[in-house]
Amino acid sequence: MNDRLIRGVFPEENIRFAACQAATLCNVAVSSHQADWVSGWLLSEALTCATLLSIDLTDGERLTLRWEYPGPLGSILADVDENAGVRGFTQRLRLMPEVATLAEAISGQGRIGVISSYPNREGRKGMTQAIFRDVARDLAHFLSLSFQVETALVVGLIMPPEERIVLKAAVGLLLQPLPGCDPEYFDQVRQGVERADFREWLEASPHRPEEVVENLPVEGAPSYLDESTPSYHCHCTHAKVEAVLRMLEPEELLDMLTKDGEAQVTCHFCAKNYAFSRPDLKNLLRQSQSGHA
Ligand SMILES: [Zn+2]
Repeated sequence: MNDRLIRGVFPEENIRFAACQAATLCNVAVSSHQADWVSGWLLSEALTCATLLSIDLTDGERLTLRWEYPGPLGSILADVDENAGVRGFTQRLRLMPEVATLAEAISGQGRIGVISSYPNREGRKGMTQAIFRDVARDLAHFLSLSFQVETALVVGLIMPPEERIVLKAAVGLLLQPLPGCDPEYFDQVRQGVERADFREWLEASPHRPEEVVENLPVEGAPSYLDESTPSYHCHCTHAKVEAVLRMLEPEELLDMLTKDGEAQVTCHFCAKNYAFSRPDLKNLLRQSQSGHA
């Protein structure tokens, strides 16, 4: 099933929605990070949420989402751009057999922070408590409280616990009231999609985003606005990694040169490896020395 993100409204109820299928991009993330089942599940939930949030991004805006939990998982980072290019990683990629369940990996209340940035300026940012111990619900709570946009957010994954992890579905749903929406009605809809049986339905078989929208506890008919193709997209380049190395103190670069004679830098987001040879490092050291002189 191809990854898709659709957007629309229920015009009678004044509710907007986004729904996505993001299994392919989640599979890219899980396999490139070699995440195990527990870490891969939580990362996929975060990436599916991030995919949904791309619908509001314009002018090169990018959102960075960070969940921090007290359990062995630690934190999850995900970011998304206006073209639904998403990427992310979890602090710990291998949690089994140390933890047996997702709840153990999260293990308690944490916090969630979101930062939006534009090419040349900062956007909104905020932080709230993550009280639900659930990646999607904690993010919905953040959006309602910190960005003041009432939000319902649900993710359903189909991810058999096999040796080689392959997601068969990663479905996400976002609902927000528009002006004129009855708050009580929205609350009723939200409670409907947050119920265990809705999540069970989501995870019973791979659903197309339209099927999810049509199965919502909303009376009126949906009106579809547009559609895009989300993907796993990392912005790292050799030049960007080199720019980071250039900021190191001359002593640190000299240390790399004398100890290893080269440097290997791995991107946290996509696990891509960048190699810097002895002549590269010598060159960087010269630039760093003149910069720090
Ligand atoms: Zn990268």
